[in-house]
Amino acid sequence: MEPPNGARECRLTGTGISEGVAMGRVALLHRDPKASVPFYFVLESDVAAEQLRIADAVRAAAEQLDALIAVVTERIGPAQANIFVAQKMMILDEVLAEQMRVIIAERLVNAETAAASALDAYESLLADLDSEYLRERASDIGEIRRRLLDLLNRTREDHAPSAPAASPALSGACVLVAEELTPGETVSLDTSRTVAFITERGGPASHAAILARALGIPAVSGVRNILSHFAHGDEVLVNGATGEIVVSPAPATLRLYPAAKRPVSRRLQAVAPVENLTVMANISLCSELNFVNTVRAEGVGLYRTEFELLAAGRMLSEDEQYQRYATVVKGMEGKPVFFRLFDLGSDKSAPFLEIPAEENPCLGYRGARLLLGRTDWLITQARALARAAAHGAIHVIYPMISDLDQFLKLRELFRQHTQDIAMHDIRHGVMLEVPSACLAAREILETADFASIGSNDLVQYLFAIDRNNELVSTDYRPDRPVFWRVLRLVMDAAAETGKPVSLCGEMGGQPQHIPKLLELGVTTVSVNPRFVGLARVTARRAAGPRASSPQP
Ligand code: PEP
Ligand code: MG
Repeated sequence: MEPPNGARECRLTGTGISEGVAMGRVALLHRDPKASVPFYFVLESDVAAEQLRIADAVRAAAEQLDALIAVVTERIGPAQANIFVAQKMMILDEVLAEQMRVIIAERLVNAETAAASALDAYESLLADLDSEYLRERASDIGEIRRRLLDLLNRTREDHAPSAPAASPALSGACVLVAEELTPGETVSLDTSRTVAFITERGGPASHAAILARALGIPAVSGVRNILSHFAHGDEVLVNGATGEIVVSPAPATLRLYPAAKRPVSRRLQAVAPVENLTVMANISLCSELNFVNTVRAEGVGLYRTEFELLAAGRMLSEDEQYQRYATVVKGMEGKPVFFRLFDLGSDKSAPFLEIPAEENPCLGYRGARLLLGRTDWLITQARALARAAAHGAIHVIYPMISDLDQFLKLRELFRQHTQDIAMHDIRHGVMLEVPSACLAAREILETADFASIGSNDLVQYLFAIDRNNELVSTDYRPDRPVFWRVLRLVMDAAAETGKPVSLCGEMGGQPQHIPKLLELGVTTVSVNPRFVGLARVTARRAAGPRASSPQP
């Protein structure tokens, strides 16, 4: 069936870089690729003046970045503000300044040409590197270049603004479409109107992706020739989990996503807790806490702490970690918080930490194995967590555990290196996401304080199916008898040992799976904050008409 305006539905697929579903009208962000950099030769007597123009622009850019750092720290959090701290360091880099000065003096060219040529060389150096992380940083250089050229432009008499030209304003929700979004553009998005974005460049590790996740905006990247697929004002549906984009969606498609068309404010409306399912929230950054409280989650069931490192682009000190963890414990005001120890490696790669390159990282040096190899990281994190526990009870989840022995070794290291910190209420539990650990669930639960089922990885490892590969995504689904058999085994072990077991994979927020999870005895899930309400409504429906009405 065709939508009323007669446009035909058309589908595109990219890479989902920030989960969630949203719908709005396309706002195209054009950048004039031919926007020329003013070029002219200067007299030897003008060299010093041109060099001074560069120095002034660099100083002004650093001031602009200081203001941006303050806004981002306040609006999103210190980890994201670090992106702009790094940009400021690049802009103030003495080597770069010297290169620009030399270009002016040796080639006798103007300041704009010197700035563009020094930064272009730097950008293409990064863009050619093997490391995805460093390639992604090339977009920061692009942003610095634009900022400097804009400032230099303003000091010229024939000044004309060089900001990217957004399409004419649209009313209502809009989906921003651009070849690339820089970090500065991403944090400046008005999230009450921009409900999603689609880009050609910028993978899951890009700063734009990290910021989109922190802001809670669905996003898809990797769409080739992006500007040829959309017209300004097109209606478009974006699924940031699957990477699917539907232009001019037909009514039948829209019926599959009932929440997508709701205004942003209503989508985030809290649903009161229900009796038959405790619903907590998964977070990646401490700055998501407001969101967790807005949707009235009954705790943080999974804090993916490694994302704090990915956002900062470096390992954090004990104090820096403590600040973030304490913020979450205090902010949850007595509700449970489950901190997952750094689950690094494979799909959560952190190139800046120099984890060795591997043929098969999915089965390699990751999760628990990496923590056993890098006990310095484990110890620093353990100490930060033990200090944060002074503000309220904490749960520590050990990731990618494959047998009891691994858990015991890691827990022993945790305890041994936090002995000098006053002992507070710290519970130690296991992430059940590797099939061998699920098969040993009873043995593990006899020792551990709790477990949490990581269904995302459990499906991947049980069926040998990559969770991130578009080519095989139709085979990546938990709803198969073997999966339910494994879950039954785990829930039986929970009942026999009397230890709490929750589920923190994506399926906990998916209506099609919730009734079956309830039947199996799962009474606690932890989901993306956006799906807390949906999980509750589904659980209440599954309990039938006689289920008690929600608490106020
Ligand atoms: C999981 O594997 O189910 C999980 C919750 O952790 P992550 O998605 O971070 O691997
Ligand atoms: Mg996992």
